[in-house]
Amino acid sequence: MLKVEQKRPTKIVDISGTKVGGGHFLFCAGPCAVESRELLFKIADYLKKTPVNLLRGGAFKPRTSPYSFQGLGEDGLKILKEVSEYLGIPFVSEVTDTKYVEIVYKYADCFQIGSRNMSSFELLKEVGKTDKPVLLKRGMAATVKEFLNAAEYILNEGNENVILCERGIRSFDPEFRNILDLNAVAFLKQKTFLPVIVDPSHGTGKRSLVRRLSLAAIAAGSDGIIVETHPNPEKALSDGFQSLNIKEFISLSQEISSFVSYSGYELQKHQKD
Ligand code: PEP
Ligand code: MN
Repeated sequence: MLKVEQKRPTKIVDISGTKVGGGHFLFCAGPCAVESRELLFKIADYLKKTPVNLLRGGAFKPRTSPYSFQGLGEDGLKILKEVSEYLGIPFVSEVTDTKYVEIVYKYADCFQIGSRNMSSFELLKEVGKTDKPVLLKRGMAATVKEFLNAAEYILNEGNENVILCERGIRSFDPEFRNILDLNAVAFLKQKTFLPVIVDPSHGTGKRSLVRRLSLAAIAAGSDGIIVETHPNPEKALSDGFQSLNIKEFISLSQEISSFVSYSGYELQKHQKD
C-alpha cells in the first residue's frame, strides 16, 4: 500500500493561511498566464468582490506550441506577489523544471505541477524536498494509480502538503479539450487522505460548461476548485476559450458560496477589506 493510501483523516494543507481539506474549501482563481501587471490588477479588482482565497497565474507556461506565449518568468512571479499582497491572499504558480524550483519557491506560496509534468519524477522529488505545499495536477493520460504514485514521490522526500487536482483526461471526442473525470474525484476521496480539488476550466475546455462542472465537483466531494478568469477572454494570450469573463466569474462565485455552505464546507475568506 502506498503512503498516500493510508487510512487517515483528510490532511488539512495550509497555504500561507488558506486551508484546504477537512471541511476547508479552496476557491482558487486567476488568469491562465500572467500577461502584465495591469491585467493582474484589473483581475484583482473583481476578485476582491468574491470569496476567492488563493490567486493563480502562470509565470512559466508549458505551452503545447513552442510559438505560443511562454510566460513572463520571474517578472510574472513578482507581479503575482505584489497582487497577492494587495488582495491579502496567497498565490500558486507552476514550476515547469527542476531549474526553476528555487525561483518559484522564493515568491510563491504553493507550487503547481502541471499535467504535462505529473510524471517528471526529478521535479516531484525536488518540490518534495521543500516545505511548500504542492498542487499536483493529474496527467492528461494518467491513471488514478499513476497519479497517486506521483504524489507518493513528493511524500517520500518528506513533504506531505500535497493537493491532488483532477483537470480532465484525454478522450476520443474532439468536442471537448478534456473530459472531467468526476469518478476519479469521488474515488480519490475514498482512496487517499490528501485533499482533492477540481479544475473545471481545463477539465472542460469550454467557458460555458465551467459553472455546471464546478457545482458537480462539489457534489462529487471535491475540496476546492481552481478556475481561470480573464476580463477579456477573447484577447487572452492563453486559454481564453475556457476563461470566465468578469460577469460570469462574479455569478459563479456567488453560486459557489451558497453551494459550499449548503454542502457543509467552510469557505474561509481572508482578503483584505
Ligand atoms: C494551467 O493551470 O494553466 C495549466 C497549464 O494546467 P494543466 O497543467 O492542467 O494543463
Ligand atoms: Mn490554462
